[in-house]
Amino acid sequence: MITDCVDGFGRKINYLRVSITDRCNLRCVYCMPEEGVVWLPHDDILRYEEIERIVRVGVGLGIDRVRVTGGEPLVRRGVVEFIGRLAAIQGLQDISLTTNGVNLPEMAGALASAGLRRVNISLDTLQPERFAQVSRVDAHAKVLAGVEAALAAGLHPVKLNVVVLRGFNDDEVADFAALTLTRPVHVRFIELMPLGESGKIEEDRFVASAEIKARLERVRPLLAPPPVPGQGPAEYFQWGEGAVGTVGFISAISEHFCASCNRLRLTADGRLHPCLAMDRTVDIRTALRGGADDREVAGIILEAVGRKPRRHYMSAGLTGAVAEAAAADPAGDVEGDAARGVDSPADDGPADHEEIKRRRMFRIGG
Ligand code: SAM
Ligand code: SF4
Repeated sequence: MITDCVDGFGRKINYLRVSITDRCNLRCVYCMPEEGVVWLPHDDILRYEEIERIVRVGVGLGIDRVRVTGGEPLVRRGVVEFIGRLAAIQGLQDISLTTNGVNLPEMAGALASAGLRRVNISLDTLQPERFAQVSRVDAHAKVLAGVEAALAAGLHPVKLNVVVLRGFNDDEVADFAALTLTRPVHVRFIELMPLGESGKIEEDRFVASAEIKARLERVRPLLAPPPVPGQGPAEYFQWGEGAVGTVGFISAISEHFCASCNRLRLTADGRLHPCLAMDRTVDIRTALRGGADDREVAGIILEAVGRKPRRHYMSAGLTGAVAEAAAADPAGDVEGDAARGVDSPADDGPADHEEIKRRRMFRIGG
């Protein structure tokens, strides 16, 4: 039986990513449809006190890092006070935030004062017109101001998340990397994952990290950098001698980092997700609202830890139930099976459209 946050594959789970809302003030093409999203009903969304309780109980089990995300976390009222309450939890060593940055110009100072240490800001392009295309909102200047506000507020490190899309922003990777020469920012290039709306984006938009590295290396060497706090799954480099920031690569598809996965996700409506790419979620809200004591809450967290799969199969285009079948295959060489034309438990075919639509990053928490 599992008694602390170590899963069935010996991985210590110490990182909880908490989505506090599914709502957002942008509509990134790979994440949300332009219209017609049915938002979670207000009563289904966990109250801040409920999230705080889950975090407290989780800390007792070994969780020591929390990332607040969404949807867009900075659109939920009371988020600054919530961060302050998290910061007061003994034993929680690291609180971070992932945001699109639009509201950071007004909020960065208050967030830092409340106890936020660091921030990841999503920014896919340095060109205002492209930003309006990819996010469907004209807010580029606000995000750039948000990056400056985060630096001025002393948030450290400031990381920029760039999802690279072929034919859209892949010609900007050197421009992004150039920011690190003079600004103390950490630019992370993220491989597009086949989740949510991106399931509808053409496959040839995907750009593997190796290709981006090769492009950058044609201009300057990628050198081993000093360690970046909260390093996580990204692989970091200094783009030539003297660069003050770093470039990083998050290769969830081409080099999945499941062997070192240390995370659980909590959705805004109170489900624990053991893996972004699979089902096996555990409802924690019903127990909380039904008067469960802390031991029962701990039991639910441990159940979710125990449900973590060995790895995901997004590189084979598999999510959800089909991936579950693949995960249950002891050989588990789904990509190899597909390449060799061998039958595998995943041969029901790739995830269907409904399945992909259901698995939305803004719902699960990115
Ligand atoms: N709204 C906030 C933001 O954009 O930073 C937080 C939530 S968002 C879902 C978290 C991160 O997930 C963002 O950096 C976004 O670019 C990334 N993301 C969303 N859909 C993705 C996909 N299909 N593949 C890779 N990254 C994705
Ligand atoms: Fe909103 Fe973030 Fe999704 Fe973009 S990636 S639509 S900012 S939740």
